[in-house]
Amino acid sequence: MTHYFKYKREKTGTCNICLAQSKLTWDHIPPKGGIKLSEVEQKNILQHLTDSKNNNYVLSQNGVKYRTICSTCNNGLLGAKYDVVLNAFANELSLFLKTSLQIPQVVKFKTQPAMIIKCIIGHLLAAKGDLENNLIDHHFRDYFLDDSKVVPAYYKVFYWVYPYNSIKIIRDIGMPSIRGDFKSKFSMFSTLRYFPIAFLITDAEEYSGLNEMSKYCSRSIEDFVEIPIDFTKIFDENWPEYGENNFIMGGESLQSGVSAVPRVKHNRIK
Ligand SMILES: [Zn+2]
Repeated sequence: MTHYFKYKREKTGTCNICLAQSKLTWDHIPPKGGIKLSEVEQKNILQHLTDSKNNNYVLSQNGVKYRTICSTCNNGLLGAKYDVVLNAFANELSLFLKTSLQIPQVVKFKTQPAMIIKCIIGHLLAAKGDLENNLIDHHFRDYFLDDSKVVPAYYKVFYWVYPYNSIKIIRDIGMPSIRGDFKSKFSMFSTLRYFPIAFLITDAEEYSGLNEMSKYCSRSIEDFVEIPIDFTKIFDENWPEYGENNFIMGGESLQSGVSAVPRVKHNRIK
């Protein structure tokens, strides 16, 4: 079965974030400045998980992007406020990984965790080719557009080191809240992963012992806090959606889920 990657709508439409009728702009995920934008081969996430050899990819010249949000949300909010913080954090971690001869077990990084969570949630809202209005979108919009909300109600944000060059973006999948326990309650998960960091947003209380970023947020979204990065917890590239003892359920938004890898340039031999 072939799955297509749905990442854009008409040039004008309803913004996935503020719901205004507007000209729709391209949102880069991860944001520009935190990753070297190269040509990527992007595949629908289901295609990737069920048939990884299938070559049914879409090429994109400058990274993964979705045409789903207005310019105010894209440039005024994400670009001007939140991307800068996420990029600084990702760049610092990336430099640390690339230049340290010995990686300790845990290192603390000073950042603005609530700004990072705003950023991740904003981009995850953009990562749906079709406008959806489910409860999660509703909660995410409510949180993203209100500066007085430091952490999202009902959700926790977990993070871990992601030492792979692929980009994974998945919205709204259901999985057992305790990994491997099919009798445990089902929880909803969304994830964004790219070198060097992965995020998982869920209504589960905890997941596989991951560090929780939302726990480090304090009173204002702008507060700086030192957050620990645990270098001993490394998971597979396709974790958590894939792997033994797990299964996932998803709806429409899986069409907009993506697995992308930088295109390898072959030097032509003359
Ligand atoms: Zn908007």
